[in-house]
Amino acid sequence: MSSSDRPQPKPGVMEISAYVPGRETAEGVAKVHKLSSNETPLGPSPKAIEAMQAVTNHLELYPDGAANALRDAIAEIHGLNPANILCSNGSDELLGLLAHVYLGAGDEAIFTEHGFLVYRIQTLANGATPIVVKEKDARADVDAILAAVTERTKIVFLANPNNPTGTYLPVDEVRRLQTGLPPHVLLVIDAAYAEYVRRNDYEAGVELVSSCQNVVMTRTFSKIYGLAALRIGWMYGPAHVVDAINRVRGPFNVNAMAIAAGAAAIRDREYLAKAVAFNDEWLNWLTKEFEQIGLEVTPSVGNFLLIHFPETDGKGAAAADAFLASRGFVLRRVTAYGFPNALRMSVGTEEANRGVVAALREFMNG
Ligand SMILES: *Cc1c(COP(=O)(O)O)cnc(C)c1O
Repeated sequence: MSSSDRPQPKPGVMEISAYVPGRETAEGVAKVHKLSSNETPLGPSPKAIEAMQAVTNHLELYPDGAANALRDAIAEIHGLNPANILCSNGSDELLGLLAHVYLGAGDEAIFTEHGFLVYRIQTLANGATPIVVKEKDARADVDAILAAVTERTKIVFLANPNNPTGTYLPVDEVRRLQTGLPPHVLLVIDAAYAEYVRRNDYEAGVELVSSCQNVVMTRTFSKIYGLAALRIGWMYGPAHVVDAINRVRGPFNVNAMAIAAGAAAIRDREYLAKAVAFNDEWLNWLTKEFEQIGLEVTPSVGNFLLIHFPETDGKGAAAADAFLASRGFVLRRVTAYGFPNALRMSVGTEEANRGVVAALREFMNG
């Protein structure tokens, strides 16, 4: 039977390499520290768990399709108009919806060479052409992005900070990017790690969205809020974009437990402050320790680090990954992101952080 005798996916779909999530297990190890998906070691706010549990008494009810309680909480905390907020089943869903609404055959979407893999997947899924732009020092290069724009460009995806590099563009650079884009190009600022950033020249995107018609910012509860399992994302965007997405999204795309937990989580500011302080302390500590061991680390403002390994035989990223896994530390290979000789490590518990440093010291000296 030839393949033309059976249903065919749309053009683009079979060019996609399916997303491979971070590993969860290591063979033959009693205790595994999963440091491969940028999850928080602190878990969610107890208030979020409590709010979620209250909902389990009424699982027969559809959730509020507009997720009003969640949008109101986000609006209150961030000082935004709830009408410009749209919630989703993880921010991954939003990236897909944006691509679905704005990209079609013949269109182009621009992202950078070490950008988040979901941008490529969603571009191809909608029959559009991915345009991959070089970075400079593992950071998005505004001039290179602008030089790649054509009349076919419909979306520019920018993760700020970026995963897996942990680098960021200062607000001036993001503004320069927006200013240089033609008005028909949508700039999607994916700020999944915004809460972690402690830099005066960083802005997640609120200011740009408020003043422009072609910028949206996407956010998530999966990272600092520790609610990855519930799948909660949100977008802040101009009314016309919110309206377009509302027409195509699933009518109940955010589940009731997510709405309740998300609203409680974002209001627990004390919990957030603790999570930021914890991450800051260990991110700095890990960076210094790895450098002392002689490993190069890309400066990160997120909750993860990109660790580069020497080219020397037996000391590369694959060997390091295997060595760490044998000790129960599961990191992320980032070959698919253009870093065949690096590993990405999420900031973990104190035990995990100290354990990885000790293991890598042994690995490098072995
Ligand atoms: C983790 C991550 C997300 C969040 O995905 P969710 O679907 O909200 O869990 C989005 N963008 C980037 C760059 C990420 O690393």
